[in-house]
Amino acid sequence: MNFINISHPEQKVTFPQAVVTGLGKGQGLFFPERLAPLNNIQALLEMDFVSRSPAILQHLVGEAMEPDVLQACVEKAFNFPLMLEPVSEGVNALELFHGPSLAFKDFGARFMAQCLADFNAGHKTTILTATSGDTGAAVALAFYGQPGIDVVVLYPKGKVTPLQEKLFCTLGGNIRTVAIEDDFDACQKLVKQSFDDHYLVEALGLNSANSINVARLLAQVCYYFEAVAQLPEGTMPVFSVPSGNFGNVTAGLLAHALGLPVKRMIAATNSNDTVPRFFKSGHWDPRPTVTTLTNAMDISLPNNFPRVLEMGQRHGLPLQQLLTSFAIDDEETRDAVRALDAIGYLADPHSALAWRALAGNLEEGETGVFLCTAHPAKFKETIEDTLKRHVVLPVELEQVAQKKVLSTYMPADFAVLRAFLLEA
Ligand SMILES: *Cc1c(COP(=O)(O)O)cnc(C)c1O
Repeated sequence: MNFINISHPEQKVTFPQAVVTGLGKGQGLFFPERLAPLNNIQALLEMDFVSRSPAILQHLVGEAMEPDVLQACVEKAFNFPLMLEPVSEGVNALELFHGPSLAFKDFGARFMAQCLADFNAGHKTTILTATSGDTGAAVALAFYGQPGIDVVVLYPKGKVTPLQEKLFCTLGGNIRTVAIEDDFDACQKLVKQSFDDHYLVEALGLNSANSINVARLLAQVCYYFEAVAQLPEGTMPVFSVPSGNFGNVTAGLLAHALGLPVKRMIAATNSNDTVPRFFKSGHWDPRPTVTTLTNAMDISLPNNFPRVLEMGQRHGLPLQQLLTSFAIDDEETRDAVRALDAIGYLADPHSALAWRALAGNLEEGETGVFLCTAHPAKFKETIEDTLKRHVVLPVELEQVAQKKVLSTYMPADFAVLRAFLLEA
């Protein structure tokens, strides 16, 4: 199996090359060249999650990874539960937040970390990444204690929630966190400047481990299979996905392309509605990003969207029938948190937003699944403010909340960051 650069299809690489380089020529995204359906869907659905997932991934990565290596990567990465919880008649919550960072990004980040540790064995590697919150925690926890890999996470000082900061800035060891005295864009710019510095890239073995890495995408395909496996046999669900960079939706479409029974998909956005407007008008017209309650989705240039289009164009998926997209604003999101709470389900704002888009759209007789991407306690302030009551922290969060933040503070100055990176 080859992976092609969708901006420059003449560039073809193996899976390990795609994972290690991250981005292709001209900043192009890698994507499987062919998507052959699996011929044993029913047998796969009868397996358990950790046994089934290597079989799906092997089909996608081909011979570039030995089966026993792939199996070991999956076992180490997917070492936490996921469940499908019925919420009301025909509506189910797929809870993807029971991993170490309490967000679904653990699936992708942990699988990528295991792959990189294997592909880069023997080479010095430094993961340098910028985060506005959730990604930093998933990446830091995924690489924590991995031999031969150092991690440096940049984040905007004072702009992540105190709990988010405690999750990834208290680890120590091979994880260094840097609070930049500026915003997230400044952090991303510093990462870009570092990757443009050839001496730094060589000396440190820099890798960005960012959200467009194809390993993260493939890992996410696996939980769509698990959702269908947990539903009554023969069910063809409608999935609703809270979407920012559109990686999660892409993974669902990939699962469908492999033959998973999926009736259709809903990509739910917040008021950063570039994609819903594009579907309506046919015009790609991004506007400045606005801040919302669902901050992990405050993105107006979704960087995985070219992969969605690729699936329509090169792989012939009937996107018009298969994918719709709706924008849900903050008021509707708060209403959704309240409505779910009233039927006994506590959802974080991102998950509640996906439920809202599903509930307004499900037809008679259809079964719906909305993806729950973060633990409600991670967004404690919003939930408490919306429901007017106290939210109890899970033990993991209660414990990290006591720990000391170990971050280094720095102005948004590349020379200062460079010296810091080289000094270790
Ligand atoms: C990252 C994130 C999303 C958006 O996922 P994409 O794959 O970028 O569309 C949704 N919810 C939460 C909680 C997230 O952290």
